[in-house]
Amino acid sequence: MKVDLLPLSRVSAALAAREVSPEALLESSLERIRALDGKLHAFLRLTEGEARAAAKAASQRRERIGPLDGVPIALKDIFCMEGVETTAGSRILKGYLPPYDATVVRKLKQAGAVIVGKLNMDEFAMGSSTENSAFGPTRNPWDLERTPGGSSGGSAAAVAARMVPGTLGTDTGGSIRQPAALVGCAGMKPTYGRVSRFGVIAFASSLDQVGAFAQDVRGVALLLSAIAGHDPDDQTSSTRPVPDYAASLARGVRGLRIGVPAEYFGEGLQPEIDKAVRAGIEVLRSEGCEVKPISLPNSPHAIAAYYIVATAEASSNLARYDGVRYGHRARATQLLEMYERTRAEGFGAEVKRRIMLGTYALSAGYYDAYYLRAQKVRALIRRDFDTAFATVDAVVCPTSPTTAFRLGEKVDDPLAMYLNDIYTVPVNLAGLPGISVPCGFDNKRLPIGMQLIGKPFDEETLLRLAHAYEQRAGFAEQLPPLVEHAGR
Ligand code: GLN
Repeated sequence: MKVDLLPLSRVSAALAAREVSPEALLESSLERIRALDGKLHAFLRLTEGEARAAAKAASQRRERIGPLDGVPIALKDIFCMEGVETTAGSRILKGYLPPYDATVVRKLKQAGAVIVGKLNMDEFAMGSSTENSAFGPTRNPWDLERTPGGSSGGSAAAVAARMVPGTLGTDTGGSIRQPAALVGCAGMKPTYGRVSRFGVIAFASSLDQVGAFAQDVRGVALLLSAIAGHDPDDQTSSTRPVPDYAASLARGVRGLRIGVPAEYFGEGLQPEIDKAVRAGIEVLRSEGCEVKPISLPNSPHAIAAYYIVATAEASSNLARYDGVRYGHRARATQLLEMYERTRAEGFGAEVKRRIMLGTYALSAGYYDAYYLRAQKVRALIRRDFDTAFATVDAVVCPTSPTTAFRLGEKVDDPLAMYLNDIYTVPVNLAGLPGISVPCGFDNKRLPIGMQLIGKPFDEETLLRLAHAYEQRAGFAEQLPPLVEHAGR
């Protein structure tokens, strides 16, 4: 197989062995993007100039800085990158040029990564299909009539189509894990506080977390080690030391206890997913894990609580887009009129819906009934997980109740779209780490994802389990037909 079709950790090894140069690798990445992006629309823009300079610098270094040195990486368009337009998928930020790099972008650059461009996403990360992007949807490399999931749909599609070996995304209610599942790659949302959010455009600040996509779990581990850690610019980032996640994969999974929550295998789950995830659990059992039934009784309330908390925080975070400081400004003669028109013209329908829901939930007289109540449900969900983690080391369940759905299928039914997040939002509400790993295909040959959920700051155990599973299952090397046809 050509080097640029390999999963991230093997691309990194090929660079270390000088089997390929960073410059040649970048050119094959750009070539595949040019060949496929007309169909997929994973990218909003390329940063070819910066990328070529970074690849050249990597080629000229005598010693590699580390495993990401010379590796092409792309970013969800929610990460500020100095001097590069950053829109969060919204018209309101069109033309916005950040004056600084997000901390994770700075860290990637310092690790020698070659940043090739910015990826499509649902507007302000609100959505599960990338159809809420103001710049048109991204398509799923396994079936162009279907969505890659969202909101980090561009990040997932770019990895699955082998345009780049790794990408960054954000996950507020499932936006890394769900698209990873729908396109058949690995995607991890670390513990709340594990990765700095400085320079990351905010959606719901008590839930947002940065994470990574790669075709292999080791690739995700390498990315996470590079971006995790304390940042004085983000007071919510943890001061705990960052483990060498890739090194800990060698420790194996024998003796780990995994919990299977009854509530996550119920009504609404596509039967093929039920079957594939149960088969995945058997693989882990045969690797020496102890499998236990558990209960997370408050999880069925998670969607309701999430859509209060997330919309309330979003309505507050999005107040800053007033036409004065960033991006789009409407023509008007009066100040108030300018604010109103800017927001009316700049925001899309889903973002407006959420601002209205959130403003209502926070309004005087309703705060106790909605926001406060949702926070109480959130505490109960967290407590369920704490109870479970007294007897198990990780929880295993489906990532998404369905495989990739058709473009347009759920756009007119926001509630159906929201229900897609049923297995992912409890993890954000509880602030826990979660990873999705490919675990098979349905009868239309659409990828299925298995989710592993861990204790706070125990990303290592999740990565070990996901890696052990992936080694046995071998789904990481499967190419979507689109890439297969473009030639190995
Ligand atoms: N689909 C969920 C939402 O629309 C989650 C989005 C996310 O994680 N950013 O809010």
